[in-house]
Amino acid sequence: MTKTIWNFLQYAVIDTQSDENSGVTPSTDKQHNLAKLLVRQLEEMGADEITYDKECCYVYASVPASAGCEGVPVLGFIAHMDTSPAVTGAGVKPRIVEQYDGQDIVLNEEKNIVLRTADFPEIKKLKGQDLIITDGTTLLGADDKAGVAEIMAMAEYLLTHPEIKHGKLRLGFTPDEEIGEGTDHFNVELFGADFAFTVDGGELGELENETFNAAGAKLIVHGRSVHPGSAKGKMINAVLVAQEFQSLLPVFQNPMYTEGYEGFFHLDSISGNVEKTTAEYIIRDHDKSLFEEKKALFVKCAQFLNLKYGEGTVEAIVADSYYNMKEVLAPYGHLMENAAAALKELGAEPKVNPIRGGTDGARLSYMGLPCPNLCTGGANYHSRFEYACVQSMEKVTELLIKLAVKYGSPL
Ligand SMILES: [Zn+2]
Repeated sequence: MTKTIWNFLQYAVIDTQSDENSGVTPSTDKQHNLAKLLVRQLEEMGADEITYDKECCYVYASVPASAGCEGVPVLGFIAHMDTSPAVTGAGVKPRIVEQYDGQDIVLNEEKNIVLRTADFPEIKKLKGQDLIITDGTTLLGADDKAGVAEIMAMAEYLLTHPEIKHGKLRLGFTPDEEIGEGTDHFNVELFGADFAFTVDGGELGELENETFNAAGAKLIVHGRSVHPGSAKGKMINAVLVAQEFQSLLPVFQNPMYTEGYEGFFHLDSISGNVEKTTAEYIIRDHDKSLFEEKKALFVKCAQFLNLKYGEGTVEAIVADSYYNMKEVLAPYGHLMENAAAALKELGAEPKVNPIRGGTDGARLSYMGLPCPNLCTGGANYHSRFEYACVQSMEKVTELLIKLAVKYGSPL
């Protein structure tokens, strides 16, 4: 078994599920259990400049530059230690299916939990390879412990192979990515890399340098309740006005009908009565000007309803959440080019897709650390049907080593 897989199987059984409702950092104390193990392993392998932020649960370390490579840019690799709150991460029992036969996989005979190729046809592409699965009662946590395992294996390999020349590498392991707080306490200055990659994507070949531009938008409708028997010309039903607002938005700019680069308005929740109704939306678009248009339309629809029902009936509050990292990454085209070239050298086809969401890398890019996203070799994230491909994960470790070497010579 290679170090990558050995690492992963150790990390997978440690419960590091984050919790969006705890309001503290790290959101769950148990994430420290993995952080502590990583610190110990980094010490054992002889990594340099190990920093364990015991308060917020971040781990940073360095692989020093090879002799003669001290002047090249510092390259970083980042992965998150937590797993999604969507599915339990307690009692994960990873199991390896050797030479997968391309058929349905019975994850749990007793509970009749089956990973069906009809539901997940892409798994058939991995026929003949080895897969890591669960017993169907938990997620696997390849998101993102596969990334953690690959970075750790890469670091150990380079530390034990001094003949391979590379510049200084920085490693970062973060908590709470799954609840959108992974970068809240990330110390970009201490990390000190010129640029980095998050290793937090899916199947081998995936490369990502685009996220949505994102905003949260809130609609508050102030109605006027009057006895229904004498309401003519007097009542304003806030529920119906909110419904009318939704009907003014473009019908097909909705998550149910969009993919790829298509943006949307998503009505996430609505609650209220005749007197007052509140609706929470999110607005998303990869394109900056279409994003601005969507936000402006949201406000205009509210203005129209105020014209109709009276000033102050409708309030629209729009606040930006994060931006497409592509703009920040534009001057760093070499990151995607080198990653694509390294993938091809490994016999994998680079697949560049826009992320229909945000990543820690997007936030880090705007915090001054340009940071596209690399694949990990896992799939079906946040699910009991999550799995990872052994051979893909091993290739990702090789990919990281290749990138370290590519950045070992002056740009
Ligand atoms: Zn992730």
